[in-house]
Amino acid sequence: MTETTSKRQVRIHPEECKSCSRCIDSCPVKCLRIGEALNSMGYRYVVYDGDGCVGCGNCYYSCPEPLAIEVG
Ligand code: SF4
Ligand code: SF4
Repeated sequence: MTETTSKRQVRIHPEECKSCSRCIDSCPVKCLRIGEALNSMGYRYVVYDGDGCVGCGNCYYSCPEPLAIEVG
């Protein structure tokens, strides 16, 4: 059975993100983007567009910052 997108969620922890865009480049459905808001370190952190995540995990594996982005 095919996994539905609604069962997978990407969670971003804004304070851990360094705005490197690796997760954006790795996402097959392009549902991540750099947001407008800054975290306390001054980085524009990644945000989820709110729909379309297929739970592939590419963003998690491409992110160099522990805990910045999780999929589950
Ligand atoms: S898990 Fe895959 S589809 Fe979902 S946001 Fe990460 S890279 Fe994109
Ligand atoms: S790969 Fe990690 S640190 Fe880089 S923009 Fe994405 S969430 Fe932020």
